[in-house]
Amino acid sequence: MPEIPFIAVGGGLAGAAFALELARHSAPALVLESTRAPHHKVCGEFLSAEAQALAAYLGLDLAAMGATSITTFRLASGPSQAEAPLPFRGAGLSRFRLDQALLDAAEAAGAEVVRGVTVGEVEHLEGRVMVTAATRSFAGRAAALATGKHSLRAFPRPPSDMVGFKIQLRVTQEALRRLANVVQLAMFDGGYVGACIVEDDLVTLCWVMHRTLLQKIGAGWPAQSAYFSQSSKIVADLLHDAVPEWEKPVAVAAIPYGYLRRDIIAPAIFPVGDQLAVIPSLTGDGMAIALYSGIAAAQAILAGDGAAKFQQRLVDRLRPQFRWAGIVNRLFDTRILHRPSVALAGVLPGLVTLIAQSTRLRGFEDVMEGPKPKRSGLKA
Ligand SMILES: Cc1cc2nc3c(=O)[nH]c(=O)nc-3n(C[C@H](O)[C@H](O)[C@H](O)COP(=O)(O)OP(=O)(O)OC[C@H]3O[C@@H](n4cnc5c(N)ncnc54)[C@H](O)[C@@H]3O)c2cc1C
Repeated sequence: MPEIPFIAVGGGLAGAAFALELARHSAPALVLESTRAPHHKVCGEFLSAEAQALAAYLGLDLAAMGATSITTFRLASGPSQAEAPLPFRGAGLSRFRLDQALLDAAEAAGAEVVRGVTVGEVEHLEGRVMVTAATRSFAGRAAALATGKHSLRAFPRPPSDMVGFKIQLRVTQEALRRLANVVQLAMFDGGYVGACIVEDDLVTLCWVMHRTLLQKIGAGWPAQSAYFSQSSKIVADLLHDAVPEWEKPVAVAAIPYGYLRRDIIAPAIFPVGDQLAVIPSLTGDGMAIALYSGIAAAQAILAGDGAAKFQQRLVDRLRPQFRWAGIVNRLFDTRILHRPSVALAGVLPGLVTLIAQSTRLRGFEDVMEGPKPKRSGLKA
């Protein structure tokens, strides 16, 4: 059985950040990723200032990768819309490009990346972590549970009826001009749809909706796009003459918004990214949390800390951000508040900027000081 001290189960942002941080501090790391090649993921592809800073800490040059610049937030409901300045400069970049760049960086730093391996089980047995896939098993000293939106059977997250989708579009020059430097969110009855420009003038359209609405309108792109166009003027304008880059949106079911994993799995199994915490998508800060938790788990291991201390620290750090994000999420989920919210945003854009600021990851800079000196052993 191959032995590598530290194993990332899942090679998304959290798993790749974990392996990269370990590898560049001379700790042997392995990433097991189920997909065989770069792929599109359900994500709005809006990078907050925190996500950008953490990506830069990991050595990524987002601008060189084609990231766009986003300075304005546009909120809409039906025919109304309002704009507010973001409290920071955001960026738009596809996960197709970003996730692969991070995996490449991990590999270049010395981590081993194995694709096409779907892990079924992660256990802590007699002081070792055992990771089991269909035809192979691996042993290590510690593992990051980084399977993101997909939970392993042994480590479920709460049920949820929220379903997420993404598609990329080629839009008209006029639509592209209107969306330049903007991230927009249009609320509709049963969900919301976001859009921003990513690299190469592609537009990412990403949305979440309750399962009941999905059952009513159907999962196909023609039905969904027709529903958005009739629910929101800005989305109708965006979709006018737009050409989808692929036939069917990518989708993910049962998104447990607001979830924070407080229970400890085992002293050497570190939940990271969406396996640790799922912030409502409308905040556009999930990627920051994924990068931060991946780096923080690696640094905890390098310092000799166990998962209990790591989880406690991260959950405490995330709690205020989650409280605010939960309030905003409820507002988005309450149809009668949609139009008044847009009207309020129109008169008080400063309030929107303030709310956007309150849903940010706080204190993330601590990991950017680098790993703390190692203490002996791995403590619970
Ligand atoms: C609708 C929606 C919109 C969003 N928009 C934004 C946004 O605009 N900005 C933002 O910052 N955040 C956004 N997020 C949140 C963000 O997408 C996630 O927080 C982030 O992707 C979490 O990263 P991760 O590495 O934990 O998981 P993932 O990105 O899901 O990566 C997990 C990886 O593990 C692999 N994997 C899964 N199971 C296994 C297994 N058994 N064995 C091996 N490999 C496995 C998967 O193939 C995948 O590559 C959005 C989320 C949703 C649902």
